Order: sequence, then structure tokens, then C-alpha cells
Amino acid sequence: MIPPVNDKLTVLFVTSEVAPLIKTGGLADISASLPVALMHSGVDIRVLMPGYPSVIEGIKSKGRLTSFPSIGELPQCQLLAGKLPNGVPALIVDSVLFNRPGGPYNDANGKDWPDNDLRFGLLSYMGAVLSSSASPIAWRPRVVHCNDWQAGLTPTYLQFIQGEKARTMITIHNLAYQGIFPPSTVSRLGLQPSCFQPDGVEYYGNMSFLKAGLYYSSRITTVSPTYAQEIQGEELGFGMQGLLQHRSSQITGILNGIDTDAWDPEGDPYIERYFNAARLPAKLDNKRALQRRMGLALEDEMPIIGLISRLTYQKGTDVFLSAAEELAASPAQLAILGSGDAGMQDALQDLARAHPGQVAVHIGYDEGLAHQIEAGADMFLMPSRFEPCGLNQMYSQRYGTVPVVNSTGGLKDSVVDATQEHINDKTATGFVFNGVTREAVVGAMKRALTTFKNKKVWRQIQKTGMSKDFSWEASAARYIEIYRQLAG
Ligand code: ADP
Repeated sequence: MIPPVNDKLTVLFVTSEVAPLIKTGGLADISASLPVALMHSGVDIRVLMPGYPSVIEGIKSKGRLTSFPSIGELPQCQLLAGKLPNGVPALIVDSVLFNRPGGPYNDANGKDWPDNDLRFGLLSYMGAVLSSSASPIAWRPRVVHCNDWQAGLTPTYLQFIQGEKARTMITIHNLAYQGIFPPSTVSRLGLQPSCFQPDGVEYYGNMSFLKAGLYYSSRITTVSPTYAQEIQGEELGFGMQGLLQHRSSQITGILNGIDTDAWDPEGDPYIERYFNAARLPAKLDNKRALQRRMGLALEDEMPIIGLISRLTYQKGTDVFLSAAEELAASPAQLAILGSGDAGMQDALQDLARAHPGQVAVHIGYDEGLAHQIEAGADMFLMPSRFEPCGLNQMYSQRYGTVPVVNSTGGLKDSVVDATQEHINDKTATGFVFNGVTREAVVGAMKRALTTFKNKKVWRQIQKTGMSKDFSWEASAARYIEIYRQLAG
């Protein structure tokens, strides 16, 4: 149990995506489930987000609160108040900048919107105004919690607002996305020219929203303890490692939780048959349903390797492709869902055509199929080169689908390798390899496929994973601890 918050802790949570209204990745899942956990613990939280068309449509009982004049090249906008589908109070920035079809960051062809600086400058600016005595609304946060580069300028704007203001923290969900724009952006966004310097928003001659957030926020968190260390090194610091080393004592890694209602094998509406650790044989019905749906051969004993991912270099899709023929020949079936890089999409489809009934590929985004793969597959592969937290390895463990992962970030923090020692002490929950190479992926998969034949050990690994607590409770308590320290 998280201890109740005694004095009223008010928090503004600034984010650019919230599931199910708008989602491109894990940030949306976290922006939906962490605020719920915080609210249940007594935090008075409001989520501030852009009013994309799907958000305006999906927000319940909304009303217009007030309007804001333009500053710099940021146009005037309206502030709406309402409730997210999960009941968390939301504040919505309603602006011409967000009211357009397409994705949150790019158009239908995958090209970045040319005015992303203004769009997320506006979101950041609104985060700052609402967190200060300049706010026209009565509700005032004691802490403003910024997420990723899109909210990264909130602490910078707050620097230049006089009067009382909230304390700031920023969470890095993925350091690879940094919101970099030309120096002229500073004046477009109505910021003081003096902030364009190395001790400010300047980043190798340009400006970076994320760098600004990391520089000006009082506290920095990221989404796993291992990633908190990794981003301070050259390999995964993406140029920010110097600043992050400098701020090391203010950085905390907190492993994300998952939405245990949405991802529950005992009540998942997308799957063929409910199951749990005591009723594991029922998982077989989900395997058969997955084989039918994806056109795989109906073979109970054939292991299915699942993979759901953005198809990118980060996720190691290229290395997976180099290993896929060998994995299929193991033999095993492959059930793949993803979208992203066009060349990788084509290569996966070629692979499926070459192995009918054995390799099934679905290109696109499909929430239902994602649940069905988690429920029906036997193992789940994540060859990510880096993974700040990762969610699927936790969903997999909950669904008795044994994860096979690279030893990085949150994958390292949430999967226990099935070494003989960990099998003996019954702590093993998956298979972990070091470094994303074809040899490492094939080697770990072979270990998994060999262990799969030993039904007793396999069941034990499944059950250990299924009994782990990946709910938000513990992690939300750690966020509250930091909010309290900041709020004083
Ligand atoms: P990232 O945010 O880097 O993409 P995460 O593992 O943190 O990675 O979160 C990705 C989320 O998106 C997971 O919930 C995953 O299941 C989901 N996902 C990714 N690709 C697809 C897809 N093509 N269809 C359905 N869900 C997907």
C-alpha cells in the first residue's frame, strides 16, 4: 500500500500522448496508468496535453476554462478542462497547431510537422503558465512533472516568469528524441535570447527542448535504474552524457509499472480464453487461436516466438532479420506485429512469403493482435539495442510468455536470466543475452528452445514470471517520494 498523501500534493503532468486517445509508444501507456495510480494514492493530479482531434473527441464532460493570448509566434489558444477515459482530470490545449489530421509528430507520410517547435513550445509554455502565479485558473500545482522533449521547455519558461511557481521535474522516456531546432526558434517561442547559451537551451549550435529540460529541471527521472546509469555513458548518452554526469545526484531511475487491468490474462477481452498460473493449460487455446488468426500451421508442440515492435534500428529489427531464417529452421514459428522502417517492413513480408505457415507478419498497429500474440506465443523476443524501460517483457511475463531479451535498460532490470543457478533457486523468468548480434540472439533463442522441451522447468519459469508484481503501486510511491521532496 502506498501511504496516503496527507497535505494536498498538487501535480501537473505534462505529456504529448495518453493512451488510448493518442499513442505512438510507451509514453502514452505510462501517461495513462501512472496518473491513475497517483490519483488513487491521494495526489491531486491533472494531465496537461495537446488537443489533437482524437483527444478533443475522446475527452469526457469537457468545458472551456479560459483563453490565452499569443506570445512570440505561438498563436492564441483555449484551455479546456475535462476527464480522460480513465477518470483522471485533464487540461487540454486547444489550438490550431494541434487541430489537424495525421500523427502527433508527423504527417500521414511520416514527415515531421514543420512547426513541431511551435506545437510543443506551446504545450511547454502552457505547462509553465499553469504552474505559476501568472495562471488564470485557481488550481495550482506544487510540482510540474514534464515528460520527454515535448514538455522540455516548461522549466525554461518558468525561469522567466516572476512570482510563485511550482518545482520542476522531467522524466526521460527515451533520450534518443531530443527536440532539436535552429537557434531562431528561441525568439519564435517568445523566450529570452539570454537562455541561448551552453548553460541553457543551446545544444551544439542549435537549441534542444530536452537539453533545456535536463538543464533547468530540479529533478530528473528516467524509466529504469539501469537506463539511469546508461545515459550517463558515451554509448547511450546521445551527446547529453556530460550534462547528465554533472546532474548525476539528481537523477533517479524508477521502473515503469504496467496497466494490470488492460493486460490481465484472467480478463483480457481480446483473447480466446482466460488463464492464470494455476490454469496454464488454457493458454493452449490462445496459441491455437493465434495460429488460426495469423495463418500459422496448427501444431500444438511447435514453439511460437512472438515479436511486437516499432521496426527500427533501436529495436534491433535488422539483427532479428539476419537471425530469422535460422530461428525458423530451429524449428519454430514466428508471429510478428510491427510497423516502421519501410525496408524492414518489406524484408519481413518477404520472409513470411518464403515460409508460409511458419512465419506470419502483420504490418500495422493492432492493439487486439498485440494481446493475442502475448497470450498465444510461447516466448517473446526483444533484441533492442537500448530500451529505457520496455513494456512487452513485463506483459509477456504476466501472460506466461517467456521473454528473451538483450541485457539493457529496463529489460535488464525486469527479466531474470534462466541460468542453472536461477533455475535452481526458482527466480528465473526469461533468457538474457549480451549485445545485439546475430550470434547472441540465436544463442539465447537456442537456449530458450532447448529449455522449452523440458516441460517442468518451462512451467516453473512461466509461473515465476506470472507471479511477479509489475503493478504501478511501488513505482508510484517512488514518484510521490520525489514530489514530496520537491514540494518541501
Ligand atoms: P517504445 O515506446 O519504445 O515503442 P515500449 O515497449 O515502451 O516501446 O512500448 C511500446 C508499446 O507499444 C507496447 O505497449 C507495445 O505492445 C505497443 N506496440 C508497439 N508496436 C505495436 C503494434 N504494431 N501494434 C500494437 N501495439 C504495438
